[in-house]
Amino acid sequence: MSLPDFRQRRGGKKAFQFNMIVVGASGLGKSTFVNTLCGQQVIPRRAVDDPSQCAIEKTIAINPITVEIEEDGMKMQLTVVDTPGFGDNIDNSSNFAEILGYIERQYDDLLAEESKIKRNPKFNDNRIHVLLYFIQPTGHSLREIDIELMKRLSARVNIIPCVAKADSLTPKELADFKKRIMEDIRYYGIQVYDFPFDEEDEDEETVEENMELRSLLPFAVVGSDEEINVNGRLIRARQYPWGVVEVENLKHCDFARLRYVLLSSHLQDLKELTHDVLYEAYRSEKLSKLEG
Ligand code: GDP
Ligand code: MG
Repeated sequence: MSLPDFRQRRGGKKAFQFNMIVVGASGLGKSTFVNTLCGQQVIPRRAVDDPSQCAIEKTIAINPITVEIEEDGMKMQLTVVDTPGFGDNIDNSSNFAEILGYIERQYDDLLAEESKIKRNPKFNDNRIHVLLYFIQPTGHSLREIDIELMKRLSARVNIIPCVAKADSLTPKELADFKKRIMEDIRYYGIQVYDFPFDEEDEDEETVEENMELRSLLPFAVVGSDEEINVNGRLIRARQYPWGVVEVENLKHCDFARLRYVLLSSHLQDLKELTHDVLYEAYRSEKLSKLEG
């Protein structure tokens, strides 16, 4: 299918590039989420017959993966950066620095490119448009490490908090947990992406949609590497002795809403905020440091 004209004029192929990073403690399902979002096994499972390896590859390094996907009939280039789970070390500050360093390096690359006399037409803008932060489904509240990480990174990247492995909480536990997390986020002054809108400018529908999405925060995520036959249809799900958790069923979790936000409804807003606010702040800090 060919793209409508206006899209091509507005920025050619690059308009369809979207870059995200997935961060959180190890074992929270980050790699599984990436596979689920991409609808394909982009992060391989380890060979089961190798006893020295666990069933699924442990992410060991910051690892960008680019896939072409189609959402709403639009082809797009999606880059997902999978990060090693932290929390395994006593001191996690080096993990934070590594993630922050990665995000800032993408800004530096663009900054260097922008100051060239002759710019490279093939330059790849790899700035991260959103960071998905995976919260352990403890049912309690945020841990110190969650607070610290989100606080540190929120000046540089849009953060969307997510409850990992949401199928391990009952609906009531999940609702209470979500509420406490948002109370913590406000209490500690953590800036997350909360579907901002300008009441004056937006139509009623947009305001309503954004309010509803805001009320879902943090998104309850379930991922799966498997497709299971449910009533004759193969769907991405997790099979338990007592039933099936369907990844895309909105009664089971918020995965489908989150995917729609990322790849369709709020993609442009996340990109604009990255460029107009976050990158701009970085650029002016960097340049004033050079001058001063
Ligand atoms: P990562 O270390 O954050 O990348 O976590 P992985 O994606 O490697 O997943 C760790 C384990 O959690 C695996 O056994 C997955 O099958 C399991 N897992 C992944 N997503 C979910 C989920 O949504 N719910 C539950 N219950 N388990 C999950
Ligand atoms: Mg992983």
